[in-house]
Amino acid sequence: MVTASKSNRPIDVAVIGGGPAGSALATLLERAGHHCAVFEAGEFPRYHIGESLIPHTFGILDRLGLLPKLRVSSYPEKYSVRFVSPTGNESTPFYFSETIEGEGARTWQVERSSFDQLCLDHAREHAVDVYMGAAVEQVLFNGARATGVRVRPSDGDPYDLSTQVVVDASGRSTVIGNQLMLKSPVPGLKKAALWSYYKGGRRLDGIDAGETTIFTIRDRGWFWYIPLPDDVVSVGVVANPDNLFSNGQEAETVYAREVNDCVPLLERLNLAKRCARVYGSSKELAYFNRQTSGDGWVMIGDARAFLDPIYSSGLFLALASAELAAESIHQALEAKDLTATRLGSFEPRIMAGVEVVRRLIHAFYDPNFSFGEFVRRYPAQRRALIDCLVGDVLKDMNDFKTALEQMTPPPPDLMAGGS
Ligand SMILES: Cc1cc2nc3c(=O)[nH]c(=O)nc-3n(C[C@H](O)[C@H](O)[C@H](O)COP(=O)(O)OP(=O)(O)OC[C@H]3O[C@@H](n4cnc5c(N)ncnc54)[C@H](O)[C@@H]3O)c2cc1C
Repeated sequence: MVTASKSNRPIDVAVIGGGPAGSALATLLERAGHHCAVFEAGEFPRYHIGESLIPHTFGILDRLGLLPKLRVSSYPEKYSVRFVSPTGNESTPFYFSETIEGEGARTWQVERSSFDQLCLDHAREHAVDVYMGAAVEQVLFNGARATGVRVRPSDGDPYDLSTQVVVDASGRSTVIGNQLMLKSPVPGLKKAALWSYYKGGRRLDGIDAGETTIFTIRDRGWFWYIPLPDDVVSVGVVANPDNLFSNGQEAETVYAREVNDCVPLLERLNLAKRCARVYGSSKELAYFNRQTSGDGWVMIGDARAFLDPIYSSGLFLALASAELAAESIHQALEAKDLTATRLGSFEPRIMAGVEVVRRLIHAFYDPNFSFGEFVRRYPAQRRALIDCLVGDVLKDMNDFKTALEQMTPPPPDLMAGGS
C-alpha cells in the first residue's frame, strides 16, 4: 500500500480525473495545505467536448488565479447568447452586461485540449502531484468508508494508495457511481448529441463575433454554433434520440441530414468546410447519482451529474462544485471528521443551483413554453432568466421558479426514476 506521493509527502486527498473539476479542486486544497494527487487516465493534451464557458465562472477562475492566462489566450471572447428559430427569426442577443458590470460580463469559448491542459498545469504549479496515464480501477473501502484507490498505470502494475479522502472527478466515467451502482437516468430528459467542426463558418461583427448561437429545430431539438480559435466553429445538434436515429442511419448521415435541414445554420456555413469527424452517439446524455458523497468520498463535476448542454452550464457546475467541495473537505480535514455529512455539506447549495438549471432545461423542451411570452408576462423575471444564462444560480431563486411553474409544469422528481 502506497501512502506518499512522488514528491514524498503523505497524500491527504486522491482525485480521480484531471479535467477542470479535478484540477480546480486539487489546486484549492493544495493551497489550503492539504496535499493532493490527481490520477488522470489519459495523456494531455486530449480532445474533449464542452467549449462554451458562462460568465459566472469568472469569479472561480479569478480565485484559482487563471484569469491572467485566459486574458492572453486566443480563445474567442463571448459576450452574449442568441436564439434563432427554425424559420430564421433571431432573438435580441442576451448580453451578459445586462446583469453584470465590468470584465466579468464577458467570458470565453475555449478549445478544451488546451484549456484542460492549462488547468492541470496550474495544479502542478501549486505542487499537486499529477499522474498521467494512471487510471483508477476502483475506490477501496473499509466497510462503507473510502480508504484509497487502486491505480493502474499505463506502463506498470496496479498499486493501491491509501488516503484520507477520495474525490471522484472522473467526468462521464463516473467511477464511484458505477462501482456503488448509484447512477440513474434523469426522468423526462431523453436527449442525444452529434457534433463536428467547420473551418470558415461565418462570424458576426464586433462583440457578437464570439457569441453562442442556438438554432432551434423541429421537435424542440437545437444546434449550438460556438466560434473557436483558428477560424474553427463547433457545431452540434441535440435532440431526442428516437427522432434523430428513427431510421437507423449512421451518425455521419444523421448529422449531415440535420445540418442540411437547418436553413438558418446553413447560411452561416455556406463558405465553410468540415474539418473533423462526427462525434457523439445515440446514447442518452443525462444522468445523475442518487448519492453524491459518503464517508471518505465526494463526487464533483460530471462525475456527480450531467443534465443537458443547452445553457452551457457543465463547466460552471464542474468548477463551482469543485470550489464548494474543496471548502467542505478542508473543513472536514481540519475537524478530523470525514463523515458523509461533513464532506457533503456543500451539497444543498449546489443541488439548489442544479435544480434551477434543470427546470429551465425542461422549460426549453416544453413545446407549450415560450421564453418571449414568459418575459412578457413576468418582466421582473427577465433579470433572473439572464442570471440563469450566466450561471448566477447558487442563490435564492424561488420567485423565478414559482413564475416558471405558472407557465410550464415542474419536471418529475429526480428520484422518481425512468426517462
Ligand atoms: C455534447 C456536450 C456538449 C457540451 N457543451 C458544453 C458547453 O458548451 N459548455 C460547458 O460548460 N459544458 C459543456 N458540456 C459539459 C462539459 O463537457 C462537462 O461538464 C465538463 O467537461 C465537466 O468537467 P469534469 O472535470 O467534471 O469532467 P471531464 O472534463 O470529463 O474530466 C474528467 C477526466 O477524468 C478522466 N478519467 C475518467 N475516468 C478515469 C479513471 N478511471 N481514472 C483516472 N482518470 C479518469 C478523464 O480522462 C478526464 O480527463 C457539454 C457536454 C456534452 C456531452
